[in-house]
Amino acid sequence: MANFYMKFCPNDHVVYAEGGMPTQKYCTTCGEELISKCPSCNSDIPNYFESRKYFTNNTPVNFPRKNDFCIQCGQPYPWAKQFISGLDHSGIWELMHPTITEICKSRFESGHYADSVEAAFKEINAIVKSAHYKKTGKEEDGKSLMFKAFSSENPSILLSKLDMVTGRNIQEGYMYLFAGSIQAIRNPNAHNNLKISKELSIHYLFIASLLFKMLDKGIIQEKNITT
Ligand SMILES: [Zn+2]
Ligand SMILES: [Zn+2]
Repeated sequence: MANFYMKFCPNDHVVYAEGGMPTQKYCTTCGEELISKCPSCNSDIPNYFESRKYFTNNTPVNFPRKNDFCIQCGQPYPWAKQFISGLDHSGIWELMHPTITEICKSRFESGHYADSVEAAFKEINAIVKSAHYKKTGKEEDGKSLMFKAFSSENPSILLSKLDMVTGRNIQEGYMYLFAGSIQAIRNPNAHNNLKISKELSIHYLFIASLLFKMLDKGIIQEKNITT
């Protein structure tokens, strides 16, 4: 076994030397200044590893897996930051419900992340509102609309058969999901005045996508026949 020490390039390259710290200051691949401490908290980035060497050129057989997040402060190291912001998100639309793609994609791709989330949940609210109005003749909105429309007692939109406990659990569980999503994330800008990140908006959109899939399965109930 041999001992190796590393210095790190913010662009995800590693420079190493056997038996002591590498002496060079700059990345041999891209020229960027090398670092050995976390830029956020100044703690040492783990830089030591042991490995057997190839006989032919004295290079290590195994490199350690590099951390993406600082073990002291939890912040991403520069190479991980670049990775996260550069992630290719184009594949998400393949997985999303088509309605989400239709109403959210252009907003999302132009950087209007909160708007795209808001549009998705507004549409869900509008669909449920119209179904609930058809059945009851009553105008409801938001959380209270969801509690009424998906109630396991006489719902406006039936998601599951209600004659068995399992079915009622599903109906009631989705009632909470619809109500909670509308309450917590319908309009992320109005709620916390923060610009939501691209990454968080994807999570929100997947929740909305799930709700659309449930609406596809849902059966809008006939008008109440009351005397
Ligand atoms: Zn480099
Ligand atoms: Zn740190």
